[in-house]
Order: sequence, then structure tokens, then C-alpha cells
Amino acid sequence: MTVEAPETNTGDGSLYATAKKIYPQSVKGRYRNFKWAFMAVSLGIYYFLPFVRWDRGPGAPDQAVLIDFPARRFYFFFIEIWPQEVYYLTGLLILAALILFLMNALAGRVWCGYMCFQTVWTDLFMLVERWVEGDRRERMQADRQSMTSKRVGKMLFKHFLWLMIAWWTGGAWVLYFADAPTLVTELAFGQAPMVAYVWIGILTATTYIMAGHMREQVCVYMCPWPRIQAALTDEWALNVTYRTDRGEPRGSLKKMKARAAEGLDAGDCVDCGQCVAVCPTGIDIRDGAQLECIQCGLCIDACDNIMDKIGKPRGLIDYDTDVNIQRHLEGKESIYRFVRPRTIIYVGMITLVCGLMVFSLINRRLVDMNVLHDRNPLFVSLSDGSIRNGYTIRLINKASTARDFELSLVDVPQGFTMKAVGIESRDETSMIVPIDQDITKELRIQVFAPPKTQLDKSQPVSFSVRDAETGEAQIVQDYFKAP
Ligand code: SF4
Ligand code: SF4
Repeated sequence: MTVEAPETNTGDGSLYATAKKIYPQSVKGRYRNFKWAFMAVSLGIYYFLPFVRWDRGPGAPDQAVLIDFPARRFYFFFIEIWPQEVYYLTGLLILAALILFLMNALAGRVWCGYMCFQTVWTDLFMLVERWVEGDRRERMQADRQSMTSKRVGKMLFKHFLWLMIAWWTGGAWVLYFADAPTLVTELAFGQAPMVAYVWIGILTATTYIMAGHMREQVCVYMCPWPRIQAALTDEWALNVTYRTDRGEPRGSLKKMKARAAEGLDAGDCVDCGQCVAVCPTGIDIRDGAQLECIQCGLCIDACDNIMDKIGKPRGLIDYDTDVNIQRHLEGKESIYRFVRPRTIIYVGMITLVCGLMVFSLINRRLVDMNVLHDRNPLFVSLSDGSIRNGYTIRLINKASTARDFELSLVDVPQGFTMKAVGIESRDETSMIVPIDQDITKELRIQVFAPPKTQLDKSQPVSFSVRDAETGEAQIVQDYFKAP
């Protein structure tokens, strides 16, 4: 698909072009309804999810979705991610990218048109604007007239509502990083941490500026996705297109009727301009594919409404493929090919990544151990001829209950012993370490090789940790250093 880039050269050599004010008109139709429904669900989730509770047992936070920086945990309903499990985040990012590629292969910029944060919030801000200042015609008229106190009042009210939405957007964001009801109370009484106020301020400003003022300019000039998307798409992807074969030659309804009566070619497009009036980026889809088009489908709704009124079939503007545009010009029927190598590859990769993530979640260990050999000194020769090595062992209990861990020295030559600072040994090579729920415990461990043992300079030794109740275990190998 060839996509026209936006015109920025103004003809005087400058690369700067003043933004044209766009007055998108309201429209009714199936794509508009879908956009409203998606907006309601996505904003509902975003604003209210921090208040959903999830019981994780005593001592654990009961917020369903929580990024707990002080405790270094990410909670998502029944899933709890520790910092060393950040690969889940990597998996999620890969999954998100693959889903975006698949959506693009099937239906072009469907993400931009319906799901992107910029689109969703801009839609909400436009809704407020229409409610306060009226639809396209009233707003254009008001801008042409001189300022009145009534108009100033309306503008102030609109900006106040925009700021309230922007403030609540920033406020909802910080609620994901602390217990939401507590933080709301602290914010209300000015007792919240300074970082919360700073982030609310930043997000209030960015939401207000981007959704209220910059709108389509974010999509056209700031977002890299349209450029990447244009390189990733192919002729089988659905895009919002104008059916030139049906629409042209265009003209007013009266003119088209007259042409038809004379037996001349008369297109279905009555040149009413409704598709342009509703477009949030202010373009004319009849000019062909353009980089500014976010594929929101609102021009389809507008044109379908006109077609209904003049008694012509819907679909003069519709989602269609480049292949079908060409076929229509040749008088052929539409064909669709959703199953093709790239979609198969994307679906395969999505299935693989999902499968790996689910598998690793199901088999996630609740017992974990890190072993770090002392660097200085690597070993100590004791007066009785024995050799001592020191280790720092971190035991991790990811379960929501306190547990007793059996820590043992395994796979070592005869006579090796182990001790821990502050913990009583059960025998020469093992000990029981009680650990509270959902914490790590660091131990200073000393391993001794008896005198006169034949040792390599670096001798493999292994530590085993085992949950005494469930039997879940992990073994970590390290080395015992000798002269
Ligand atoms: S041309 Fe149509 S689909 Fe594209 S942005 Fe404008 S209204 Fe949306
Ligand atoms: S809405 Fe339909 S009929 Fe009206 S100008 Fe656009 S394409 Fe033509």
C-alpha cells in the first residue's frame, strides 16, 4: 500500500506548517458505537482497577493489580512477579508487539483507530468539547465571531472539565503503585509522598496537552507507528478505502440525477463532505491512503448514513484491501485472504510465547536460592589444617505462608561440613531455616574441608534447599577453593 506522507513544506522553504484547526463532527453508526463501547470498557478498567481487591492471605497486599516498588513485587491477581522474574515482562512486551503485528496484517491501523491511548482520550476530550461548545457547525461559527462573556464561560468550563479528566487520569496512574484507598485518603489530606504529586502533575499536563490540544498532531508527527506500520503491511490487509469505481464521477445529488437521466456516468458520491467533516484528522479519504488516516471508520459511518438517505447501497467507503480496490476497478468480485504466511507466522509465534509463559507460570518455583562465594579471601587455611570457604546464600520463599527450608551441603567429598552464622545445624551438613511468607533471607555460610583432604584448587560443591512440607527443592552448584 502506498501511503501519502503529510505535507509539511509550506513552499517558502520552511519545514514548519501551522496546525490547521479541525472541528470533527459527531456521527452515529456501528464503528462509532464500537469506539464508544471500547472507550467505556478501557477507561472503566483503567480508572477503577486499582480499587479491585484480591485476598492473598495475611500480611500480603490485597490490591488486585499493584506495582510495589518498596517490596520489589508486581502483583496481578493470583500472579506475583519478583524482580528476578522480569523475563515475564519481556514476554508480555514481545506478546504485545506480535499482537500488534497480527492486527496490522489483518486490519491495518486498527490499533490506532480504536485502542491507542491517544485515540481513546482524544475521543473523550472531544465528547466533552461537543457537550459544552456544541457540534462542528456551532464551534466553527463561534470561532468566526468575536469573544463574548458566554463564550469565555463555555471555554473556561470546557478546560476545567478537561483538566479534571487529565487530573483523574494522572491520579489513577499513581494508584497502581500503592494501596489505592490509602493513597486516595493521603492525597486528599495532603499527606501523600511528594513523588505521587509530581507524577500526577506530569500526567495531568501531558494528558491535557496531548488529548485536548495536540490531538491528531501526536498521531501524524510524534508517533513512530504509522511509519513502521506502513513498512509492515501488505496488499491483503484491510484498510479504510473509498471505492473510486462506485463513487466517481462525483457531484451533487441533483447533478448526479441529471447525469443519470442523460445516460451519462454518475457515481454514488454526492460530494456532501460528510466523510471529511467527521474525520478526526481532517483528511479526505477520497484522496486515497494517507498517513494521517488512523483507520477509525467514522467516515464509513458518515457515508453509510448518506447512502441510506439517498437509497444507495452502503459501503462506498469501507474496510477493504488494496487487492480488492484493483479488482473493483477491473469489475471483479472481492476476495479476502486472512490466512497467509505472515498471519500464520504471527499466530504461531503468539501461541509459542503464550505457551512458554503459561508453562513457566504453572511450573513457577516457590522456593529459590542464590549462592555467592566470598571473593576476599577465597579460602582460609585454619591452624588445624582444615580449609574454610565462605558463602552468602539468599533463600527465597515466594509462597504466601511461612515455611521451614532444609538447607544441605550435597555432592561433596567425605568429611566436608557446613555451618551458618546465627542458625543451629541439624547435623554436619544441614540445617532447618524458618522463613516467613513472601520474603528473602540472607545467610552467612561457612564450609569446611577436613585436614589432609586431597583437594583440587577449585572443587565443585552443591547446596540444596528443600521445602520441608511440600518437598519442592532447588540445587545450586558452586565451588570450594583450596590452596
Ligand atoms: S479518513 Fe476515515 S478512517 Fe481515516 S481517520 Fe479520517 S475518519 Fe478515520
Ligand atoms: S460521505 Fe460519501 S457521499 Fe458524502 S462526500 Fe464522502 S464519500 Fe461522498
